[in-house]
Amino acid sequence: PPVTSSRKLVLLGESAVGKSSLVLQFVKGQFDDYRESTIGAAFLTQTVPIESGNFVKFEIWDTAGQERYKSLAPMYYRSAHAAVVVYDITSAASLVKARSWIAELQRQADPSIVVCLAGNKLDLAEAGQRQVSTAEAQKFADDEGLMFSEVSAKTAQGVEAMFKQIAERMPIDTAAAKSR
Ligand code: GDP
Repeated sequence: PPVTSSRKLVLLGESAVGKSSLVLQFVKGQFDDYRESTIGAAFLTQTVPIESGNFVKFEIWDTAGQERYKSLAPMYYRSAHAAVVVYDITSAASLVKARSWIAELQRQADPSIVVCLAGNKLDLAEAGQRQVSTAEAQKFADDEGLMFSEVSAKTAQGVEAMFKQIAERMPIDTAAAKSR
């Protein structure tokens, strides 16, 4: 019978890169231009079917603005199975911040954590606002052994595919499967 494995997923990144918006797009299929940055969706779940016929239930922890208080962060990611480190493709500074989050995860998180670098606000590339090239971010992700996606929480482009790819990387609870 199919098994559902619960997996803790955290979103990290500079304030206003779109972490909460990505979660809301993934879980509810909604986007709000005027949502206040700090009123996050602090905890939401979403279940994703994977190729093996099983399911991954993501328990999603949004930092909800608390990335500003760096000392509060470790409780978010220390026990995480997956992390999405978000930058904004229109902000070179946000990629610098993403790099520091990745370094922090490499120091502090479980070594088995699955990390995806996510370049958000892809919809703004057409308006000529891009500051981070796909090639630069892809190279960084490759060098660090990270997954990589460019996405738009606004148009939903790439969002479901990114979470699905992360789900496929999550080990399922085979022990739980056998004990049924
Ligand atoms: P957070 O602080 O990282 O959680 O960022 P938010 O989700 O609060 O988003 C910050 C701002 O960016 C909000 O005004 C969002 O509407 C906007 N935003 C988020 N994602 C996108 C996107 O994909 N495209 C565009 N154009 N704006 C976005």
